[in-house]
Amino acid sequence: MKPTTKEDIDPFEEIIEGVKHAKGVKQDTELDVDDLKTLVEKYKVAVKAKTGKDFPQEPQQQLWRAIQAVFDSWNNDRAKYYRILNKIPEDWGTAVNVQAMVFGNMGNTSATGVGFTRDASTGENIFNGEYLINAQGEDVVAGIRTPQQITLIGSKRWAELQGVPEDVRKNQFPSLEESLPETYQELKNVQEKLEQHFKDMQDIEFTIQNGKLWLLQCRNGKRTGAAMVQIACDLLREGKIDEKTALKRIEPNKLDELLHPIFTPEALKTAKFVAKGLPASPGAASGQIVFFADEAKKFAQSILVRIETSPEDLEGMNIARGILTARGGMTSHAAVVARGMGKCCVCGAGSLNINYKQRTLEVNGKVYAEGDWISLNGSTGDVFEGKLKTQEAQLSGDFGLIMDWAEKYTRMYVRTNADTPKDAQIARKFGAKGIGLTRTEHMFFEGERIKAMREMILASDLAGRQTALAKLLPFQRSDFEVTIRLLDPPLHEFVPHETAQQQELAQDMGLTLDQVKQKVHELAEFNPMLGHRGCRLGITYPEITEMQTRAIIEAALNIKAKGMDVKPEIMVPLVGNVNELEHQLKVVKKTAETVFQERKDTIHYLVGTMIEVPRACLVADQIGQIAEFFSFGTNDLTQMTLGFSRDDAGKFLPYYINNGILKVDPFQVLDRQGVGKMVELAVKNGKSTNPNLKVGICGEHGGEPSSVEFFHIVGLDYVSCSPFRVPIARVAAAIANL
Ligand code: PEP
Ligand code: MG
Repeated sequence: MKPTTKEDIDPFEEIIEGVKHAKGVKQDTELDVDDLKTLVEKYKVAVKAKTGKDFPQEPQQQLWRAIQAVFDSWNNDRAKYYRILNKIPEDWGTAVNVQAMVFGNMGNTSATGVGFTRDASTGENIFNGEYLINAQGEDVVAGIRTPQQITLIGSKRWAELQGVPEDVRKNQFPSLEESLPETYQELKNVQEKLEQHFKDMQDIEFTIQNGKLWLLQCRNGKRTGAAMVQIACDLLREGKIDEKTALKRIEPNKLDELLHPIFTPEALKTAKFVAKGLPASPGAASGQIVFFADEAKKFAQSILVRIETSPEDLEGMNIARGILTARGGMTSHAAVVARGMGKCCVCGAGSLNINYKQRTLEVNGKVYAEGDWISLNGSTGDVFEGKLKTQEAQLSGDFGLIMDWAEKYTRMYVRTNADTPKDAQIARKFGAKGIGLTRTEHMFFEGERIKAMREMILASDLAGRQTALAKLLPFQRSDFEVTIRLLDPPLHEFVPHETAQQQELAQDMGLTLDQVKQKVHELAEFNPMLGHRGCRLGITYPEITEMQTRAIIEAALNIKAKGMDVKPEIMVPLVGNVNELEHQLKVVKKTAETVFQERKDTIHYLVGTMIEVPRACLVADQIGQIAEFFSFGTNDLTQMTLGFSRDDAGKFLPYYINNGILKVDPFQVLDRQGVGKMVELAVKNGKSTNPNLKVGICGEHGGEPSSVEFFHIVGLDYVSCSPFRVPIARVAAAIANL
């Protein structure tokens, strides 16, 4: 194993490197028996120095210690991090398999390798993988020697990518198909049988000992999002699985990878090529170079550049935008882990000379230092200089097929949270059925709008507020052609805190600077999240609700006049008491009636409420009597049920998760036992008095697969999530219904 951080150098690796250096050889296999004896003595000394104990010589004792070491590995830092990353519960524990060993390093008729029944990167139906003659399994995945391809086709493709001439390939890097043809044929037959049996792409580890093939392990292979879609659709087309099974093979979160950007053709035209490696994990990434995993956070966008990676680098790999390695093949640690993470990765770019001490990367005489920008194309293996412009991903036809299955099998429908026409367009393209949340306060952050909004907030009387609201009305009217939540602004976010801006506002409003400062001071709250926000604002300043209702209804009538069908839903935020909703309902209805009379036309609209305060769940039977729909605001409901501030929980949540107090971040994955119970109770209570109540959710959990599953179970009608999560939520909702 190679050093992973600047402090952490593997002592065994250092010793073997020293022995090889003394002998003047490069490969481990070039060491003879006497060298290995010397090596073992040195290893024993190192063990004693580190542990204070002699290395046990009894085989039984060695076996028990090895077993113990595997169990202990469950609790090492990288295993903990891996569990967090993949949401694996802490209490599962691990198992140890004890089996007789076979040796791939018994000479030139021995080998070891890893094969995939289909391409784990693209999903192409082609047997592929890598092997090494006269080596142990670890040598292939550790990326210490450059592995060779199993198949002849793969070997030729590899040589082309690497620019290796055919005669060199044939002599130095022959495929297994060429070097051990009979064993290759046997392996090929076995892989076919295994895939036929498991009906999924298999990842197979094998060893050949003196020409005899042994299978060490076989499991469903990890794959990229693109390969996941391709393989599921191909297996269906090949008649190996049915449609429902194919849909279950889709891991919703992995669809995200298909939606990632790629470099624009223009950017690629002028891009300065630096090096070529293997296309280990698709996508495009630009970032500043870092050489150590524990420094990945040094830049907002970093590319982790390593000779090779190891499990200690996991956290840094996850933080970095992309990963580039100089050594290792498609089954090296970097490649496998990056694919699992859906992270762009180029590996085995052999022309890179990386100097960790000087923190430089040299390629063909040009030196790049830490902090320099580079760009990776994980789909081609190209490495470029500088920062390249990206464009949105192009979806394959099979993606549409998956979306069709999602449509066919789902009970819940998916809406989107959108504040801009662009958001709405993207979501619509992904199959969102309407807008489940428009946060109106987000529409007031820019240009003239923020000025009018500030005037409204700072106005000292009704007349002042009405003047400012009159300025906001036309903006708001042009916005609303969707489902809308009434204002829920934490007021402090909207008032200016810098003197220059306060001065400008003072001038606009005809006030003195001191008066503005005083007003800003008055608006400051100790706990804004529990302060003057949500419906509390519309209750204390009904003119705001009036203006927003007018804007919504007028916009809807305008659209109707254009011959389009529009179904506005007005949503009152942060209700905890039925009287709050009743108050707002009266204002909304009265305003709508006024507009209908003015325009001599009407429109059907709904008024409902967000359920995001725990008390609202408890009295949902009362609220259900007057609300036409509920939309769960699980962000606030999580905040208030757990008593964790949305803004401050980041300070202690990592500690809670690392120490097993919480398994996952409840703001990402719905806390079924607590917040989930609240949701369940509110649905039951609400429907007890209003069986026709429409129920949905628009908190961030609406795009998270396991939360979506829960919402299906408790009978919600829809989930609403951010545009790029729409396909994920659609597939998760359909799978939950299978
Ligand atoms: C929520 O609380 O879940 C919600 C959707 O509203 P916001 O995030 O705007 O508070
Ligand atoms: Mg909320």
